[in-house]
Amino acid sequence: MLNKKSIDDINVKGKKVLVRCDFNVPLKDGRITDENRLVAALPTIKKLVNDGGKVILCSHLGKPKGEPKQELSLAPVAVRLSELLGKKVKFAADPEVVGLNAKAAVEAMKDGDIVLLENTRYRAEETKNGEAFSKDLASLCEVFVNDAFGTAHRTHCSNVGITKFVNIAVVGYLIEKEMKFLGNAVDNPVRPFVAILGGAKIADKLNVISNLLEKCDTLLIGGGMAYSFLKAQGKEIGKSLVDDSKIDYCKKMIKKAEKLGKTLLLPVDTTIAAVFPDPIDTPIKVEVVSVDDIPSNMEGMDIGEKTAELFTEVLKNAKTVVWNGPMGVFENPTLAAGTIAIAKALAETKAITIIGGGDSAAAVNQLGFGDKMSHISTGGGASLEFLEGKELPGVAAANDK
Ligand code: ADP
Ligand code: MG
Repeated sequence: MLNKKSIDDINVKGKKVLVRCDFNVPLKDGRITDENRLVAALPTIKKLVNDGGKVILCSHLGKPKGEPKQELSLAPVAVRLSELLGKKVKFAADPEVVGLNAKAAVEAMKDGDIVLLENTRYRAEETKNGEAFSKDLASLCEVFVNDAFGTAHRTHCSNVGITKFVNIAVVGYLIEKEMKFLGNAVDNPVRPFVAILGGAKIADKLNVISNLLEKCDTLLIGGGMAYSFLKAQGKEIGKSLVDDSKIDYCKKMIKKAEKLGKTLLLPVDTTIAAVFPDPIDTPIKVEVVSVDDIPSNMEGMDIGEKTAELFTEVLKNAKTVVWNGPMGVFENPTLAAGTIAIAKALAETKAITIIGGGDSAAAVNQLGFGDKMSHISTGGGASLEFLEGKELPGVAAANDK
């Protein structure tokens, strides 16, 4: 179990508490288009407010690359958070994040007040874990709480650097919850434990397979991940997504699964098209072929129906499922069937179901299955690194129990 102090282990009454949240939400024309991460941060904020802390929130948003960018200001987040909490969240708009506005706002705080700082990545040191910005942040508070699971795999000022300069550093409820679900799945899964991998970020995701094979009973591979494996088996994959530098690795993983007696299932059929749809939801002409019959001028963009059935059958007996990455280009209705089939299978099973990855979570939510899942992770990269068996620096930096 997580051996880190949490907000339940401290007393924040009257204290200035800096909370690193993950408010990295998608914005369109200044409007928040998906507020899951805001909602996920509420339990920790509410607890600290109710306990009489002076609650100073901070987060990054997008990639401003170390300078103020108006369109990546956290101002809209302050507005929406105020609505969600039913309580004023004062926004401290400093281009240097910890400037005159922030200092004055913090100085004026009463117990239970909330202040939100500007985008931490307006400061170039943030992503380099520079000391000056870590100290600036630390100077605002007496207690530090990290609840940003989405950046827990990064070593930045606002989640790791700051802990050198604040005596009390603990984790919040969201990190605790994420670690509980992912930790149990990896270290103590109710078996059979089935992992499903898909999506397009192959380079990042292939690395997780080695560790996952040791933990899970069955590994299902679909989406853009699958074709590197099919190529490793000597099959023609046409113009499908592939990482040629990982073909040997894929061969090794197939051997590793055999050696460990684990089941590694690849697609048996695939939905193919001549060109990738652009825009992504343009109507598209497709056909379904066996993975032995992919023409050299075609691209695989979804698992086929037989594969969906095969995977669904496996999922019926699962007791723990971790899913990261869609089975196809689900943004296109003609290429969404594989992803829908898996989401449905997870919604119908009684197994513990854990979804990691931004697009996988979006797919599950769009299909209306969000509340049928045991846990939807707020951190794609962080959950993957955890599943890879790596320590998360943002969690490791908190005080031990
Ligand atoms: P997540 O965000 O869940 O971690 P990724 O970002 O790795 O997942 O991948 C999601 C993307 O993968 C989606 O935009 C989807 O269109 C794409 N994708 C899935 N299957 C394929 C495929 N066979 N070829 C190309 N892209 C694919
Ligand atoms: Mg993604």
